[in-house]
Amino acid sequence: MRADYVIAGAGCAGLSLAVQIALQARRRGVPCPRVVLIEPRARHARDRTWCYWRFVDHPFAAAVRHRWTRWRVADADRSPVRGSERHPYEHVPSDVFYDMALETLAEFPEIELRRGCAVRAIREGAGGCEVVTDAEVVRARLVFDSRPAPAPAPGGDEVDLLQHFVGWEVEAPAPVFDPEVPTLMDFAVDQSRGIHFMYVLPFAPTRALVETTYISPASLPDATYEDDLRGYLRARYGLTAPEVRWRERGAIAMTSRPASLRESPRVIHLGLRGGLAKGSTGYAFQAIQRSSELLARELLEGQVRRRGCRRPGRPRRWRWTGCCWPTCSARPAAGRRCSSTCSSACRRTCCAAS
Ligand SMILES: Cc1cc2nc3c(=O)[nH]c(=O)nc-3n(C[C@H](O)[C@H](O)[C@H](O)COP(=O)(O)OP(=O)(O)OC[C@H]3O[C@@H](n4cnc5c(N)ncnc54)[C@H](O)[C@@H]3O)c2cc1C
Repeated sequence: MRADYVIAGAGCAGLSLAVQIALQARRRGVPCPRVVLIEPRARHARDRTWCYWRFVDHPFAAAVRHRWTRWRVADADRSPVRGSERHPYEHVPSDVFYDMALETLAEFPEIELRRGCAVRAIREGAGGCEVVTDAEVVRARLVFDSRPAPAPAPGGDEVDLLQHFVGWEVEAPAPVFDPEVPTLMDFAVDQSRGIHFMYVLPFAPTRALVETTYISPASLPDATYEDDLRGYLRARYGLTAPEVRWRERGAIAMTSRPASLRESPRVIHLGLRGGLAKGSTGYAFQAIQRSSELLARELLEGQVRRRGCRRPGRPRRWRWTGCCWPTCSARPAAGRRCSSTCSSACRRTCCAAS
């Protein structure tokens, strides 16, 4: 079978790019390219929660379920609340995002989603690529690859940390949460296993997503996260037997390693694989939206530009925080100096002190 483009992985980045290609083609009044998305999952269910401070417009605005203009960061001594009307903190549940994306794509017969099918290999030839799946070989001009990246080889001077977390969406028998103010980081918890904070997204006075989050080299046993959540809900909100309605877990690589959006002239990396997670937070949703919009525009204009940098269009100060967090958090344990991606600001401040 033949397509213009194959997208390996219909997660956040794969679906966002497909939606941008479809909507931009419609807006320009040009034929939609033939795109095949290949995704091993048989169905898209709620598997994560996306939050971000809104800086860019994107086609999933209607998927935003909550929006906060004030938020708290706390430690044992202080609990300051700050906010922004201009850049609210927005919440998109993944099932709502997936439903919206799939509904949009269903309007475009040129875009085909093959679920229950994994990409096994991508082979490049003179005239294009061959994508080998469980079921068949699909030929395409360009391939966009959002499959999870292989684990990096250990060693070198780079920092590899994980942001690992487990969250429970809980229902309380009485109002205990302030729905106006999420807690982004509450550091007043045990710090003996690495950087550790609790994250509370209050959806209603009786309902919130509460997460225990670590930044450290490796994940922890399940029981540790569960003890954290039970202890925090009891101590902070007096909840001894909360009803857990939904569970989330994740581990996002926080690395100083440079990633490329482009593996070769014909294979372009998307999403986390393309290094779009911000080093300091692990957040990638908005970078994915921006990068999808740019890539789709370039595709429809027939010119995909070469991008060597890992995060196109990001302000320099982001590079600084993205570099400092992983590098400096690891330094006490690893005795690190600057990594290859350190910005000059980092070299002058944190790394220079090492
Ligand atoms: C639990 C969790 C919560 C997060 N919360 C936030 C947040 O609040 N804000 C934020 O900005 N970022 C957040 N992130 C980070 C980031 O935005 C998400 O990980 C986002 O989903 C990344 O998009 P992606 O397309 O790169 O990866 P994914 O969305 O994971 O998509 C990758 C896709 O590739 C598919 N795949 C795997 N193997 C194959 C194969 N062999 N062939 C074809 N396809 C394959 C997978 O099934 C999947 O659908 C979170 C991440 C996690 C894990």
